[in-house]
Amino acid sequence: MKFQWKEEIIKDNNMAYKIDSKKAEEFIDHSEVEDTLHYADLHKNNRELIEQILKKAALCKGLNHREASVLLACNEPDLIQRIYDLAKDIKHRFYGNRIVMFAPLYLSNYCVNGCTYCPYHLKNKTIARKKLSQQEIKNEVIALQDMGHKRLALEAGEHPIHAPIEYILESIKTIYSIKHKNGAIRRVNVNIAATTVENYKLLKEAGIGTYILFQETYHKANYESLHPTGPKSNYTYHTEAMDRAMEAGIDDVGIGVLFGLNTYRYDFAGLLMHAEHLEALFGVGPHTISVPRICPADDIATSDFPNAISDEIFKKIVAITRITVPYTGIIISTRESEKSRREVLEVGVSQISGGSRTSVGGYARQDSKEENTSQFDVSDQRTLDEIVSWLLDLGHVPSFCTACYRMGRTGDRFMSLVKSGQIANCCGPNSLITLKEYLEDYASKEVKTKGLKLINKEVETIPSPKIKEIALKNLKAIVEGERDFRL
Ligand code: SF4
Repeated sequence: MKFQWKEEIIKDNNMAYKIDSKKAEEFIDHSEVEDTLHYADLHKNNRELIEQILKKAALCKGLNHREASVLLACNEPDLIQRIYDLAKDIKHRFYGNRIVMFAPLYLSNYCVNGCTYCPYHLKNKTIARKKLSQQEIKNEVIALQDMGHKRLALEAGEHPIHAPIEYILESIKTIYSIKHKNGAIRRVNVNIAATTVENYKLLKEAGIGTYILFQETYHKANYESLHPTGPKSNYTYHTEAMDRAMEAGIDDVGIGVLFGLNTYRYDFAGLLMHAEHLEALFGVGPHTISVPRICPADDIATSDFPNAISDEIFKKIVAITRITVPYTGIIISTRESEKSRREVLEVGVSQISGGSRTSVGGYARQDSKEENTSQFDVSDQRTLDEIVSWLLDLGHVPSFCTACYRMGRTGDRFMSLVKSGQIANCCGPNSLITLKEYLEDYASKEVKTKGLKLINKEVETIPSPKIKEIALKNLKAIVEGERDFRL
């Protein structure tokens, strides 16, 4: 199903590029990005147009990349505040006060690529190289389950010998097989290098949640200089990866750029054009958008990246993404500090990692000496329980829900439920049920008290009497020892 409003917008703005082309250079048309930036500069002080864009955004049906770019270029404090207020409101309409929790799991840091911003690059001789055995993966998963995690994002460098597709598939099987105490990993999202349709089909068969791949930058010339060697240096193959994943039947894909590699305005427009392309071609936009920023790591210094963005710009990017693509999940990691996370949670972020270790084998080894295997430095070093406590204090409901993909609500089925607002009938109660599991099994006494209070309050706000009754029944059953309920 294609959404009419997108087609109307394209017509309205006289954009003549090929949104539904299968060629990277056509759906991320460089001239269209340049024209967009020019258009944004021309109109950044045009209050009348900005008012119209904000009015359109308030309808919750999204904006196009040109309109979003005008908002990003705008520097009027009162209008920026209006963007933040609207983003907060739209987030609440689509997601309520839920924040989905996840953790990354690093399988291997061997990599054949030459990415200049990542310490896993082939030529880095100072980093310790490591790949987890299946037994080590079990140890990691048990440690993650003991923290309370239910959703993982698998991470691995690209390496045909150390991390071939067979290794990734075996690792996914291992992860799903482990049931330790009341723990279970119920959704494995996968962030591995661009690959073939055949391999994407294998990932789909393995039962992955979202396939995540960051574009890093959409600027082709800069992409090529940032990726001088290795398979990832092929811009076209990398940029067309999501089309191959979709062709293979993976209908939940997660896109993102690494802000700071290139000028943020270019990459922001490119990111939105990519989302529009997926929707135009497959009828389904990205399930998630990640907004990492360049940060320090082993042999990487942020000072080498003059395009690194400030907290203020970062907040603007998150808020405008929220109102431009209202249905998508927006993800931030522990790269961000507590302060920065708090700011962007308010204006659009819906998923955060907690208690993360970015080193290979870092969860099971927490008490012993850490090897130098991390992809980036973790800024928010709080434990999962501390993060849950903090979210509760801020009035959010930390959610460990993985129901949608296990109930077959993926791709356009998921999107149409989100767009119609019906997803709230499942997500709200599911967040309370999974939070209750967390509180019973893993929370500290103080967090449990706070969490139960919030659940008692929130359960009363479930609009449907029938769903409220089911939720209350499930919450009671959890106290009696039952687990894994979902609506
Ligand atoms: S960004 Fe990915 S592909 Fe590039 S060096 Fe790091 S792990 Fe390898």
